[in-house]
Amino acid sequence: MTLNGKEMREFDGTRVKIMVTSACNTACKHCCLGFSGTMAPDVLEEMISSLSPRYELRLDGSELLLDDRYVRLMKRIGQDNVLTNGRILLQKPEHIIELLRENGIRMVFLSYHYGIQGELNDIPLPDVEQAAATVRNAGFRLGLMTTVTKKNRHLVREVCRKAGDLGASFIQINPVVLQGRAREYLQEDTLNETERE
Ligand code: SF4
Repeated sequence: MTLNGKEMREFDGTRVKIMVTSACNTACKHCCLGFSGTMAPDVLEEMISSLSPRYELRLDGSELLLDDRYVRLMKRIGQDNVLTNGRILLQKPEHIIELLRENGIRMVFLSYHYGIQGELNDIPLPDVEQAAATVRNAGFRLGLMTTVTKKNRHLVREVCRKAGDLGASFIQINPVVLQGRAREYLQEDTLNETERE
């Protein structure tokens, strides 16, 4: 198979996640993205045309809601959920809600780092909770993605209760991964094997 004139080795699996961009509107200390750069929408479209007959595709990256064109391409591949840190939902709520609706998004995952949010980025937890309310009030399903370090590992039950209060139907607890920026900032806060269990 060739793509943009380059010879590609064929992948045997069924699912492909395309990391579209590393651009973000915050700079989390735990961010594990291991690349930098942005794929132009027309290049992405070409990639989708090439891969979609063979694979189930998903678009991911950092903050994909910063560019409407990426959300429109989610519709094209049948992706019905998106992950966001929530900031843009507070800055442009009507626009983003309409964009998500128009493009078939049914579930929104919010980064919600209970107990350590202020140590990881500059988006206050109450702002994320307000973004959660915006998502629920607009009729979307809500999921939470919570990073866990040594500092908030004792709060896991509490964050699960909080998820219920916020109307979330899903929560994912993610022990911090020492990749990307996390290597620089969170070496000492990473869970050991016993703590992970
Ligand atoms: S962790 Fe997510 S929200 Fe934070 S900087 Fe990385 S991509 Fe952006």
